[in-house]
Order: sequence, then C-alpha cells, then structure tokens
Amino acid sequence: MTSAQNNVTVIGGGIVGLASAWELAKDGASVIVVDPGEPKFCTSLANAGWISPSHIIPFAAPGMVQTGVKNLLGRTGAFAMTPGAGPLLAAWTLKFARSCTDAHVEHSAPALKELLDTSIGIIGGLTETTDLKRTHLPLWYLYTSDNAEHDAAHEVELLTRYGIDAKRFDPTEAVKQEPILKSSVKAVVAFEGDFGVDPGKLVEIYRRNCELLGVTFRKENVTGISHTSRNVTISTATDSWVSDYAVLAAGAWSRELAKYVGEALPILAAKGQSVTLPGVPNMPERTFMLADQRIATNPLDWGLRMSTGYTLTSTKDLAINSKATAKLIATAREVLNLPDTFEKKNELAGVRPAAPDGLPYIGALPKAPRVIAATGHGMLGLMMGPGTGKFVADMVSGRSVSRDILKFSPARPRL
Ligand SMILES: Cc1cc2nc3c(=O)[nH]c(=O)nc-3n(C[C@H](O)[C@H](O)[C@H](O)COP(=O)(O)OP(=O)(O)OC[C@H]3O[C@@H](n4cnc5c(N)ncnc54)[C@H](O)[C@@H]3O)c2cc1C
Repeated sequence: MTSAQNNVTVIGGGIVGLASAWELAKDGASVIVVDPGEPKFCTSLANAGWISPSHIIPFAAPGMVQTGVKNLLGRTGAFAMTPGAGPLLAAWTLKFARSCTDAHVEHSAPALKELLDTSIGIIGGLTETTDLKRTHLPLWYLYTSDNAEHDAAHEVELLTRYGIDAKRFDPTEAVKQEPILKSSVKAVVAFEGDFGVDPGKLVEIYRRNCELLGVTFRKENVTGISHTSRNVTISTATDSWVSDYAVLAAGAWSRELAKYVGEALPILAAKGQSVTLPGVPNMPERTFMLADQRIATNPLDWGLRMSTGYTLTSTKDLAINSKATAKLIATAREVLNLPDTFEKKNELAGVRPAAPDGLPYIGALPKAPRVIAATGHGMLGLMMGPGTGKFVADMVSGRSVSRDILKFSPARPRL
C-alpha cells in the first residue's frame, strides 16, 4: 500500500507531529492532526531553538551521571527530580546510568547523525522557501569557572574523538566580537555548523504548510486508541474515527497514550523554561551555551531567548515557576551584560519527552504495528523533528529506511 491510499491520524501537533503530517501529506496521504492545544501544547514553542549537527552524542553518554549528580548536589537547578515523576523514575534512572557507555555512543552516534543531517537538510530547504530565518555564525560554548581551561579542552577532546568540528576560540576576541559578553568569559569552544531558528516560527511554518496540503486539524484530546491488523480507531470525548495508521507524536504524553494499545514506553517528562527578553542591547549574532550556568541562548527577531532546566517531573507540571525565571536571568548575568529591568519576559515552560537511553522512538509499536511511534526526542526534538517526519512517512509508505534509523525502533530493549 502506498501513502496515496492511506489515511493517517497524527496524535500530537507539536513539531514532531506537524513534521510527520507534512511529510505524509506530501506523499499523498489524507491526514488528520489531533491536538487539544494549550496548556499541553507548548514544549515545541518554549525551547531554545538550537539546530545542532554537533549533537550526535546521545544524552546518555559517559560522564553524564557524574554531571547529573554534581548538578543535583550543587543545586544549580539545571538538573532535578520531583516525586511527580512517579514510580517509573527509579527504573528510568537505572537504565539511563547503564546507557552512559562508550559502546552506547558508538552504537547511537551514526543513527543520530543520519536523523540530524536529514532534519538539517529539510530546515535548510525551509529557510530558502519560507520566511524562516537562521543565525549564521558558529555556536559558542562559553566557560567562566576556575576550571574553564580544563573543561573547554576536555569538550574539544571528547567531541573531536567523535568527529565533531569543535575548536577553541580566543576569549578576548570573543568579547570584542560580541559586546554583550562580560570579561568573565575565560574559555570558548566554537561549533561551526550549529545555528538557531525561532521555534515558534518553525512550528507556524509547518502548520501553514500542512494546511496548504489539506491536512485537517482537530482541537481535541485523544482518550482512546484501539487497533486491528487492518486499521486503528482513535477516540476523543465526543467522537471516534478509523484510520489506516496512527502516528503517536504526543511528546511527554505518549507514554499515557501508548498504554491504550498495551505498550509501555518509558518516557518521562523533563521540564524546562525559557524567557525571551526584548530590547537587549548588543544583541548577539549567534547562539551561546553558558556552559557553567547550563543556559542556552538564541537571538530571535523579537528578543533574546534564554532557556534552562531539566527537571524529571509529572506531565501535569506545566506551570511557569517565576522563581526559576528570576534565577535564570540572574545566573545569565554572570556572563552577559543585560539591562537591569525588562518590560516583558515572555516566559514559557515545556516538558521534554525523555527516553532513558537518550534516543527517540521512531517506528511501529510491536503490539500495534499500525501505530507508528514518533516520540521520546528529549532535548533534541526541534532539531530532530523534521527528519523524524520524513522517516515516519517512509515507514507508512513501505519505503525502506537505513539500518541506523532502525536503531530507533520501539522494539529495542526499553528498560
Ligand atoms: C527549555 C527547553 C529547551 C529546549 N531546547 C531545545 C533546542 O534548543 N533544540 C531542540 O532540538 N530541542 C529543544 N528542546 C526539546 C524540544 O522542545 C522537544 O524535544 C520537542 O518540542 C518535542 O516535540 P514533540 O512534538 O515530540 O512534543 P510536544 O511539542 O510536547 O508536542 C506533543 C503534543 O501532543 C499533544 N498531546 C498531548 N496529549 C494529547 C492527547 N491525549 N491527544 C492529542 N494530543 C495530545 C500536546 O498538546 C502537544 O502539542 C527543548 C525543550 C525545552 C523544554
């Protein structure tokens, strides 16, 4: 069967769902996207907007357990856990710790590279054919602590080992080129290919492109999924309908929805927050990682986006924490010259869908082969969403995907 004969329901209208819907519609499928909208709909808007070809090392990598423990003990707020994460937390953490090995990195890096390269090709196309803008200068990791020299050298050594183009840059020259930087910057690592986009704009463009191809949007909460060998039935509070396939792209909520077809996807919600500050003087021309403060920044047209936080929590924990916002801005001042007050902070919060091995789930659910998972992208969903959509369309159309992309199958060991 080809997509032209398929009708497909995409559950979730974040970046991954929209990218899947667009690719399926381009293939000729008849597509419905179902999403309740706010308050759940926010993660794909709240993020830092980084598109980073250098991020081919999974989040579960050697050294991450020590970093996490350091952050927990140091109470930087960058990494935290709450009881809201529920009983899965213990098994999730154990699987995460077990995945932090060189062997896991060797296994995953080629697959993440193919997914990222595919996404970046699609985003590149969108910057040429739509009003999507991107930054053009390399991302800088900025180090300010007493260990700055050592940490920057370690970063370059680690990433070079995996073939990533990471180079040291003179911090004095950096402060000259980007006057928003304070002289507290002691070491800089530059990533040539990494850039930033406005995530809200990318989502808007995907939605517009979907509408142009006749995708139907339903503003509803999916409350049930059932399947046979021939089709999938999707239910909401007021209706139910049958599709040839369903794409499960409900971000951090995908675990709850997968249960309807008897699948246990070990996805936890990892909350983060962002602010976008308009009127910042000396707006930078590139994305920064304030490495010691764990803050990502991105100069958007309408303000400086800054984001932080990775709190394993409940999918219901969607409120903006104003103390966390104040801390984010105060901490950023260690590195950036920022005005004393802001007229608006444009705060947003989102929950990342975090899989314990740091890899997304892309592929048919073993117990419900007509339900294609497209979820679990954790910290990298914006940059991997476009490629995920392309591979989802390949799978629904029966086109083959590479052995590396098959590594994302939900049939892999989960916990
Ligand atoms: C602070 C922060 C910074 C980040 N920075 C970056 C970055 O720089 N680059 C990057 O690549 N990624 C980044 N991320 C991660 C990225 O935002 C996520 O990985 C990505 O948005 C996940 O997209 P998604 O479509 O899978 O999920 P979501 O965007 O969460 O979309 C899921 C959708 O499912 C819908 N849904 C939920 N339940 C139901 C239901 N029952 N029925 C129907 N629909 C439902 C929701 O309403 C929601 O719209 C960041 C995240 C955060 C929080």
